[in-house]
Amino acid sequence: MSNKKLTNQYEETIRRLLKKGKLRGRIDAKCVECIYDPYQEGTWRLQVEKCTSPACPLFPVRPLTMKGKTAGKEKAPASDQTERGSS
Ligand code: SF4
Repeated sequence: MSNKKLTNQYEETIRRLLKKGKLRGRIDAKCVECIYDPYQEGTWRLQVEKCTSPACPLFPVRPLTMKGKTAGKEKAPASDQTERGSS
């Protein structure tokens, strides 16, 4: 694939995600902008799933593949979960 075509693929992916929805689309687009490399193997979603920056505020909400979602391996930190104590 030519360099120009891959660059267009990268830009088109970001443009498409920005049209997808408000917050979800913007998070997805940010992760694509951050990590997606069309020269590397794997779809943009697979590359984002493999992100190794858990300190990033978007890490817990980054887009995952269906396999990654069902595996449930990326849960939000306990501090993010609301406690519902009995009163
Ligand atoms: S979660 Fe990972 S890919 Fe997404 S913005 Fe943060 S560092 Fe980048």
